[in-house]
Amino acid sequence: MTPVLALRSVTKRYPGGVTALDDVSLQVASGELLAIVGPSGSGKSTLLHLVGTLDLPSSGTVEIDGQDVSRLPDRRLSALRGSRLGFVFQQFHLSDGLTATENVATGLLYAGVRRKYRRPLAMEALNRVGLGHRTDHKPQQLSGGERQRVAIARAVVNNPALVLADEPTGALDTANGLAVLDLLRELNGQGTTIALITHDRDIAASLPRRVELRDGRIVADTGDQPTITFPSLNGVTG
Ligand code: ADP
Repeated sequence: MTPVLALRSVTKRYPGGVTALDDVSLQVASGELLAIVGPSGSGKSTLLHLVGTLDLPSSGTVEIDGQDVSRLPDRRLSALRGSRLGFVFQQFHLSDGLTATENVATGLLYAGVRRKYRRPLAMEALNRVGLGHRTDHKPQQLSGGERQRVAIARAVVNNPALVLADEPTGALDTANGLAVLDLLRELNGQGTTIALITHDRDIAASLPRRVELRDGRIVADTGDQPTITFPSLNGVTG
């Protein structure tokens, strides 16, 4: 099966000579829940920008659903981003003037979903995250944990191939943070593929797969299949 995400020998250099990612290869299969973990400066945001199709690698390829993002014209790239990816941010990024339902419905704007279907789909997504009773509330009438649930509903309303969650618990207290992690696990249990970017090793340790970045390189990946190597007969002497 085509992986949802494949990075092949991806290097990203910024002007000024910083190599933020150095020969990174990574595959994510449909249905996975993984943490991309590393200290500040390890390359997490750079990776997120590349996977989110907001930037292109200096070399190597990024494929979403089998499509090489550097080969797509801008319009196709926006369509891919709008229909195959969902984003969750640390600071929620909800629109203050819109209700929960309207905020979630914006997740359908760029996916070509007709207007009359947007509201019922948004309400269904709010039900999935346990906010069926808050559909007409505006963000300032909601707690931090509830705001992040709205943002998660917006990210999944479209059934994306991959949800990218960037420090999704970073702005929440411990209890709400744990509840948001539980929700992400629950959505994953229903089939949503999720990559969670974090600097928090405890959060990473609680997820089924951990990809650890350091200085722009993957230094550990618990999802790596062991390579079976057969002893080579070449070089056997005597
Ligand atoms: P993290 O998200 O793990 O903190 P980043 O991807 O932001 O790591 O940064 C990786 C490295 O790339 C750091 O050394 C950082 O200073 C550098 N970097 C990030 N963005 C830029 C940029 N736009 N221009 C130059 N250097 C950058």
